[in-house]
Amino acid sequence: MTVAEHAPEGTTQKAVHTRALIIGTGFSGLGMAIALQKQGVDFLILEKAGDVGGTWRDNSYPGCACDVPSHLYSFSFEPKATWSKLFSPQPEIWDYLKGVAEKYGLRRYIRFDSFVDRAHWDDAEYRWHVFTTDGQEYVAQFLISGAGALHIPLIPDIEGKDEFRGASFHSAQWDHDVDLTGKRVAVIGTGASAIQIVPSIVKDVDELQLYQRTPPWVVPRPNKPFPEAVKNAFAYVPGLRLAVRSGIYWFLEGLGYAMTRRPALLRGVELVGKLNIRRSVKDKELRRRLTPTYTAGCKRILYSPNYYQGVANPKCQLITDRITRITSDGIVTDDGVEHKVDVIVYATGFHVTDSYTYVDIKGAGGEDLVDRWNREGVVAHRGVAVADMPNLFFLLGPNTGLGHTSVVFMIEAQVRYVAIAIAEVDRYDAQALAPSRSAQDRENAELQAELGHTVWNTGGCRSWYLDEHGVNRALWSGMTWEYWRDMRKLKPSEYQFFGVGQPAAVGSPR
Ligand SMILES: Cc1cc2nc3c(=O)[nH]c(=O)nc-3n(C[C@H](O)[C@H](O)[C@H](O)COP(=O)(O)OP(=O)(O)OC[C@H]3O[C@@H](n4cnc5c(N)ncnc54)[C@H](O)[C@@H]3O)c2cc1C
Repeated sequence: MTVAEHAPEGTTQKAVHTRALIIGTGFSGLGMAIALQKQGVDFLILEKAGDVGGTWRDNSYPGCACDVPSHLYSFSFEPKATWSKLFSPQPEIWDYLKGVAEKYGLRRYIRFDSFVDRAHWDDAEYRWHVFTTDGQEYVAQFLISGAGALHIPLIPDIEGKDEFRGASFHSAQWDHDVDLTGKRVAVIGTGASAIQIVPSIVKDVDELQLYQRTPPWVVPRPNKPFPEAVKNAFAYVPGLRLAVRSGIYWFLEGLGYAMTRRPALLRGVELVGKLNIRRSVKDKELRRRLTPTYTAGCKRILYSPNYYQGVANPKCQLITDRITRITSDGIVTDDGVEHKVDVIVYATGFHVTDSYTYVDIKGAGGEDLVDRWNREGVVAHRGVAVADMPNLFFLLGPNTGLGHTSVVFMIEAQVRYVAIAIAEVDRYDAQALAPSRSAQDRENAELQAELGHTVWNTGGCRSWYLDEHGVNRALWSGMTWEYWRDMRKLKPSEYQFFGVGQPAAVGSPR
């Protein structure tokens, strides 16, 4: 592809040149920006929304909180002593990310309200030409996507849903103008968001209909506010925060071991989940309907101090019949019953395995990434780089999500790897690098073989971790320390280098 072919018709603004372009301002984008800042690499960040924060800006539903303890679910280089609870609420995590952006002076590099919809590699220039929906063009040597995988709300295509006359919204687009007090509210879905929403709203509503397709495994979690003395100890006792962080990390790695190597060990979690149901729900039939029939961990294990109490509340009705239709004022299930309702909350998750289709990416020789991934499945080398896509990197890319611990740990490993890749391009006096097809195929064959033994593939459930062919394209196959270890170095033998000894294109920083 050549330069002239990139420019969309009607584009009048001048292209903006930078060395590295980052997409997104969640943990990934901010973490990457800080690493590039340290390395002295010139960069800009494009963010489709009006503020930083990603997941923690968008999800403001009642009860929203992390389900990995905050002392681990945060940057290792930005510890915080004053987390209010073990599992902090959303406003606190969002504040934390805003604070990180302030501390490192990142806002001046961010172009807000800039939705990237096209990125084309120029073989002659060795540069990415990136376009936002407002027609602005950016030219960069490196393109790093921190676009995340859980930001495009998935609302199922239920017949009649547009005819509904009451308020309806997705959990990630909570409409705070809608007062739920005294209303009949339907919550569709029983995943990670729903189990936080249900106990938070049940006391206010007149009636709560909870539509469940598959029950989750839910285990209790302590979440009392940390006393001031404990926060002070985190702040002033040397090594305490790190010890707590490490303790949480290794405890969760134990869970990761069971999920990836010994699914039979997860029976212990099932026992705790069943006891949790038993202590909160008196009704035997309701208990049966709430008890999963697949191995714990096959879908994300959820933590809640009060989900089952919420479901057992007389105002809550658990509905397990399949939804067939939505009418102007209700939801019809396949037993023919129309359930009248004032508000519908879709707690139905996100476009995950197809989230890559939202940006048109063309690499070397015009290779279309979306077409390739549609054809061959979503595959990257070490979850970060892709053959024939020079200088393109994904943070939390294919097969680097987690089912049990903090993804920030993975993001930090990837950020360091990308920074090394950029340094390697310079060391080789090259313009670009991309993994070789053979290295990528080899690594992914091993990864898929390992995934074959994990609970996600063998646990008897159908989760969003699997694509439409039943292949796990979402999760890392092993222990997270193994990933961290493998990402400490970039093996040049796994990569092809382009433009060695060639000068940078005119107008491009380098
Ligand atoms: C409710 C909820 C709770 C969660 N709890 C946990 C937890 O406890 N532990 C855990 O490990 N994980 C959790 N996760 C997963 C969570 O998404 C990740 O932990 C993490 O926040 C991902 O960060 P990110 O920066 O990669 O992506 P995001 O936070 O999704 O940020 C991506 C950013 O990119 C922007 N963007 C996307 N596409 C474009 C585009 N085309 N152009 C411009 N900008 C774009 C988005 O607006 C967004 O700001 C949770 C997710 C949800 C939804």
